[in-house]
Amino acid sequence: SSSSSSRADLDGNPIKAMTICMIGAGGFIGSHLCEKLMAETPHTVIALDVYNDKIRHLLDDAGGPHPWSGRIQFHRLNIKHDSRLEGLIKMSDLTINLAAICTPADYNTRPLDTIYSNFIDALPVVRYCSENGKRLIHFSTCEIYGKTIGSFLPKDHPLRQNPDFYVLKEDVAPCIFGPIEKQRWSYACAKQLIERLIYAEGAENGLKFTIVRPFNWIGPRMDFIPGIDGPSEGVPRVLACFSNNLLRGEPLKLVDGGQSQRTFVYIKDAIEAILLMIENPARANGQIFNVGNPNNEVTVKQLADMMTKVYSKVSAQPILDVPTIDVSSKEFYGVGYDDSDKRIPDMTIINKQLGWNPKTSLWDLLESTLTYQHRTYAEAIKKAIAKPTAS
Ligand code: NAD
Ligand code: UDP
Repeated sequence: SSSSSSRADLDGNPIKAMTICMIGAGGFIGSHLCEKLMAETPHTVIALDVYNDKIRHLLDDAGGPHPWSGRIQFHRLNIKHDSRLEGLIKMSDLTINLAAICTPADYNTRPLDTIYSNFIDALPVVRYCSENGKRLIHFSTCEIYGKTIGSFLPKDHPLRQNPDFYVLKEDVAPCIFGPIEKQRWSYACAKQLIERLIYAEGAENGLKFTIVRPFNWIGPRMDFIPGIDGPSEGVPRVLACFSNNLLRGEPLKLVDGGQSQRTFVYIKDAIEAILLMIENPARANGQIFNVGNPNNEVTVKQLADMMTKVYSKVSAQPILDVPTIDVSSKEFYGVGYDDSDKRIPDMTIINKQLGWNPKTSLWDLLESTLTYQHRTYAEAIKKAIAKPTAS
């Protein structure tokens, strides 16, 4: 096939087919990474997860053989307690760890699960890679940066406009979390400690690692729509919350006024960066990479307004008279919630090492994503709304 002939890395060397152990392959990012690896590379994926709904279309038992037949195998397992894990890592050239509890609604309400998932459960993965001399690409988060330095200055202070006070740079920016009683930061803190442990394994034991810090990657298959393919009372990340509101024709909820800022990157752009890391180990090993789109910054309120306009276009439905409502964070997430104020990724390191840049504008990525949401869920939502609820 075209994928196996003469593909070259960034230094012009031919790329050899490898076996990749992907933990958390059934999630949002994992599903897109599996798709990319099957469609465009000769690599084999050993996919590990407790769920496989989002990659079922790639697996062989689903409706006959694929062009990539035999190159992806799924193992349903929980890495918390499964003796097969070390063997599967040993069989592979590279391990990619995506497994985590990573929805903000869980950080303050299930802090123990959050800390265990993001730190304790990742420990054996790091150890097996280190002990067996295997390469590791570990998924951390932009949340590791916490709040910006500028957020501690008075609102109208001129230094707030100075990039030194807000741009998040891998080898310069500090990690600034709130007090312990703000349990929101349990996730960031657990991710920070596993990053430090991986870095130390590299420094002391020669582990070949790459750490990825995603900055709000969004696109099709992210999270779930409450009451349709996830729990009705569940609170997913903002893309799915707002999609759910739009699909149901209800106002979008702005937490504490929606004044926090985020930069959103299209999942398909971000996956290109991960493929470059996979296939250019000499350029990626020992690095920590921000992966985001600094050009797509909006406040959450601006995101809500844009999603409302885009959804009206793709669904051919009018915009509500009251498209958004304010809700307090305590009401929406419960006690212990706190927020990152602003997240602009510095792109110097990923540019230099991998020559990667994001391409897709916020409007365009929302248009393709909301087209997918509408096609996938609009009918099911109509039926769910028509059915009287048993209460
Ligand atoms: P996701 O929740 O869709 O995927 C995580 C997957 O890991 C899920 O399918 C889950 O079932 C699996 N998993 C969790 N615990 C497991 C266990 N014990 N055993 C086996 N499988 C387990 O989330 P995602 O958005 O795809 O995120 C993947 C990684 O990227 C996470 O580490 C997350 O912290 C990080 N990240 C993502 C974003 C983003 O923008 N999407 C931002 C920051 C960080
Ligand atoms: N948010 C919101 N309404 C919602 C869901 C989220 O205003 O229905 C806000 C949330 O408070 C945060 C931002 O949107 O400021 C992004 O939230 P997300 O859950 O996507 O994760 P985060 O970027 O904070 O990790």
